Amino acid sequence: MNRPFKYLIGSLGLIALNSCEASNATQAGQPNVIYIFPDQFRNHALEFWGDESFREQVNFTPDPVRTPRLNQFARESVVLSSAQSNCPLSSPHRGMLFTGMYANKSGVPLNCNSSRPISSLREDAICMSDVFSEAGYDCAYFGKLHLDFPTPNDPQRPGRYVEDRVPAWDAYTPPGRRHGFNYWYSYGTFDEHKNPHYWDTDGQRHDPQEWSPKHETDKVVAYLRNEGNVRDKSKPFFMMIAMNPPHSPYRSLEDCMEEDYLLYKDTSFDNLLIRPNADPNMEKAQCAPYYFASITGVDREFGRILDTLHDMGLDENTIVIFSSDHGETMTSQRTDDPKNSPYAESMNVPFIVRYPGQLTPGVDDLLISTPDVMPTVLGLSGLEAQIPGDVQGYNYAPLFFDKDASVTRPQGALYLQNLNGDIDTEGMVQNYFPVSRGIKTHQYTLALYIDKNTKQLTHSVLFDDVNDPYQLNNLPLEENIDIVRELCAEMGKQLNRIEDPWALEKILENQYGIIYN
Ligand code: CA
Repeated sequence: MNRPFKYLIGSLGLIALNSCEASNATQAGQPNVIYIFPDQFRNHALEFWGDESFREQVNFTPDPVRTPRLNQFARESVVLSSAQSNCPLSSPHRGMLFTGMYANKSGVPLNCNSSRPISSLREDAICMSDVFSEAGYDCAYFGKLHLDFPTPNDPQRPGRYVEDRVPAWDAYTPPGRRHGFNYWYSYGTFDEHKNPHYWDTDGQRHDPQEWSPKHETDKVVAYLRNEGNVRDKSKPFFMMIAMNPPHSPYRSLEDCMEEDYLLYKDTSFDNLLIRPNADPNMEKAQCAPYYFASITGVDREFGRILDTLHDMGLDENTIVIFSSDHGETMTSQRTDDPKNSPYAESMNVPFIVRYPGQLTPGVDDLLISTPDVMPTVLGLSGLEAQIPGDVQGYNYAPLFFDKDASVTRPQGALYLQNLNGDIDTEGMVQNYFPVSRGIKTHQYTLALYIDKNTKQLTHSVLFDDVNDPYQLNNLPLEENIDIVRELCAEMGKQLNRIEDPWALEKILENQYGIIYN
């Protein structure tokens, strides 16, 4: 890969340009890393997929959305067309992202709230940020965390939850649970986009009363510029930036910036919701202009981060990754649930990696799964030797450096859906019920749903994504049994490897071709 040598050339150029800033990463010999993942940002809401150099790479027409900064960023990056969020829901995604383990091992099988003590990031897990910290990085977290079981630990109201809602969803994360992040500006989960709040490194609360992506970007820019001496400039940095929009609510100018809303407000729902599986007559269609406005606003704020890197001469030394925790159905499949389903709008997320001088820009259809992200980011950063042994995901970094690298590509990405299991008399969830398992391959999407008591099949989803890209025809299993058996064989193999509850409990074993070995 010759990375250290190439890196040195980039660094020398920077020293000539700006000797003050060039100390970033040069001493440690490591690139800086920025991982930004706005919430609920579907892959289809990227304008560049309609451009000449991209549109042959996907079989959908992108949303009519403006993302000028991401368009340019994509031209400079390796862009994955088929990145999958295996358990497309905030907390389970984040658990897998942080630990490189599937939802049955990360500690986070369900969305975190105070009624679910069984769903909280494992304290003993070595997270991506722990590895970067151990490798000598300054680590900074900005925005929504939603990864821990809330406890009554409000720094401003000792002995109480940070909110009075029952169950509590929002949370304060004390220093002992920050997994190597030595700079903190975060909250659990909270959905008033123009009235956000954060707890900083010292536990001080901030209520800035402005659109959260804009505010977070200001904090990110200040961090990059080292205002207030918040980081050690002799160290490389690892930053995670978790903006909440384009997550709901997306109903009014309380949720997005007016300048962005003006771009969409005069377009009919028919012309905004152009996917053939969308229903512009649903009440939720009214959200479309606000959703797309949120996307455009996030694009602008992302651009400000890129501009700061450029102005400081840091862009050559910095790996920038843009992704999301899951997608958004936005009336597709006529569901009100934006996520947590096996539909493409829910599972297919952006995954765009820029590493100037190291990666050759282009599109790749790698079926990356969420647990692969941590080892892959560590691999991209030259830290493959530090990938913890209990990580279940794979390091696909070699494929980013060289499309033809001798790495076995995945045949499919698992789909996981869990529900509350037993609930005690106090209303506390005791375990989780794995209601659905499935697999997404390059050609098909399959999901099997089971009954909680009998553990037998209740219904299924099977789409031929090549011939039916908008997933309009749910194919009956029995009429496509050869395809089903092939998909189930791969699903069973993967579920067995990760020691999923379906494999441990032998659910549907020897039916539909499922064998757990
Ligand atoms: Ca989410």
